Amino acid sequence: LEPAHEPADPASPSCASAGEGRAHKVVVLGEQGVGKSCLAQVFADVEDAHEGEENGTTYSRSIVVDEEEANVVLYDVWEQDNSQGLKEQCMLLGDAYIIVYSVTDRASFEKASELRIQLRRARQSDNIPIILVGNKSDLVRSREVSVEEGRACAMVFDCKFIETSASLHHNVQDLFEGIVRQIRLRKDSKEQ
Ligand code: GDP
Ligand code: MG
Repeated sequence: LEPAHEPADPASPSCASAGEGRAHKVVVLGEQGVGKSCLAQVFADVEDAHEGEENGTTYSRSIVVDEEEANVVLYDVWEQDNSQGLKEQCMLLGDAYIIVYSVTDRASFEKASELRIQLRRARQSDNIPIILVGNKSDLVRSREVSVEEGRACAMVFDCKFIETSASLHHNVQDLFEGIVRQIRLRKDSKEQ
């Protein structure tokens, strides 16, 4: 797990509240095949979908949200290998999390709940921003999870919710703006 831009130090998750202008670390979680890498590539504006596919990738980008620039480092590393150590590291390194399921795959929706619980366990004292994402909203005819179910699940888990289509680039920008806003909100509330 070697991010190109900013070395992650899993031993000190508290560095999440460090100074202004540092990059926000956002980790993408979710079952294989739900579209994590596609979402990350749309966010990063990468055309070539093949590079780094095997090993997991980090993407670095700055986006302007509410007239203020934010640097985001996106970690698409969840399936890099299946070692428990790496998974625990992922659970510690993020300032925010995107938990993705596919609306066409109910098992991935159930997995998303599990991940939310694991995350809560790993970061008990932190109130980390999380967005639950129902991806592949374009696949209308093979949908297995309704918008209402997704929304209800997010309510139970006390996180935000959005449906996206990485293929159509639908709501992907909104997703990342949303995560930046949540990180800022949380930071502000900590500083008061
Ligand atoms: P990952 O394993 O979670 O990283 O999933 P990938 O990003 O590799 O995507 C898995 C498969 O789902 C690929 O064939 C993608 O083209 C497809 N896919 C990803 N996002 C979407 C989407 O929004 N709509 C549709 N129709 N297919 C998608
Ligand atoms: Mg992937």
